[in-house]
Amino acid sequence: MMAATYEQGKGFAVAAVPEPDIGPDEILVQVRGTAICGTDTKIIRVGSRRLQPGQRIVLGHEFVGMVSAVGASVQGLAVGARVGVAPNFGCGRCEACIRGLANMCADYSAFGIDRDGSHAAFVKIPARAIVQGNVVELPTGVAWAEAALAEPLSCVLNAQRGVNLAAGETVLIYGLGPMGLLHTLLAAATGAARIIAVDPAAHRLDAARAAGATVTLDSSRESVSTRVLAETGGRGVDVAIVAAPVAAIVPEALTLLAPFGRLCLFAGLVKGKSEVTLDANAIHYRNLHVTGTTGGSNADYRAALRLIAARRVDVRPVISHTLPLAQLREAYDLALAGQGLKIVLTGE
Ligand SMILES: [Zn+2]
Ligand SMILES: [Zn+2]
Repeated sequence: MMAATYEQGKGFAVAAVPEPDIGPDEILVQVRGTAICGTDTKIIRVGSRRLQPGQRIVLGHEFVGMVSAVGASVQGLAVGARVGVAPNFGCGRCEACIRGLANMCADYSAFGIDRDGSHAAFVKIPARAIVQGNVVELPTGVAWAEAALAEPLSCVLNAQRGVNLAAGETVLIYGLGPMGLLHTLLAAATGAARIIAVDPAAHRLDAARAAGATVTLDSSRESVSTRVLAETGGRGVDVAIVAAPVAAIVPEALTLLAPFGRLCLFAGLVKGKSEVTLDANAIHYRNLHVTGTTGGSNADYRAALRLIAARRVDVRPVISHTLPLAQLREAYDLALAGQGLKIVLTGE
């Protein structure tokens, strides 16, 4: 089968790889919907510290598909089932794992990160992922391409739970790539009264308006601070979410929080450039919370799937391209050029 691969030290290739064989406690999933993530293109650009020199993996961790083979000792899953697969599974024994947070396990494994992922016709699901509940049957009627976005939405759910975004509040979202747009959609679904969305790219500001932003702000043309304070009568926002990997945004976002405001550091920053200076007195006297999250749990994944299937979070404005899996190379060309929003591959 053809696959989008990354080899540590050698780089990216679309190449033929063997179809995976499964053991008695594993299943095979035929990929029907799989999205390209910023993490995939980041691995291609800078490598991954989770891979050994010379190790080659199939990329892709955001995926749904059809169960096409089931090992003899696997219970509860049948050939033909439509499933989504949450990508991270843990050791099963540590403090994070027993809380159901495999995404925080120090010893986690993930499809397309340290083992073969979904940018190919088939992906093998190991026993550990099956018994930890990573494989979940899709709600009826949900489109493959939309369901493929359950994983990124699960990360956004986890983040917004971390800042307790409530109905009626004002939220400021920096960065309107696919993740910032999913934040916009979820904030709108939660009932945020005002969503101020910030990005320097006009087409992303348009997408944010379609996703429910009430104010869009072009940061290449105007001061974010001045505009946010004007929009909020000088009070600031209840929640600020930094979904752009820019260190200078972090202290600015802190200054724009109203009393009791919460800041979510959602985007990772470039290694070695992640130190920022925050005003401790601002946090102290204004009773602020500064939080960060990465990834989502299996429970978040299931909640994300339900939201997408019910179109309470309608992810269609986030999908800029849908291509057949046979066009892996074209899809990666688009992604690596930084064009468009979410690029989804669909199999038949
Ligand atoms: Zn991803
Ligand atoms: Zn663990």
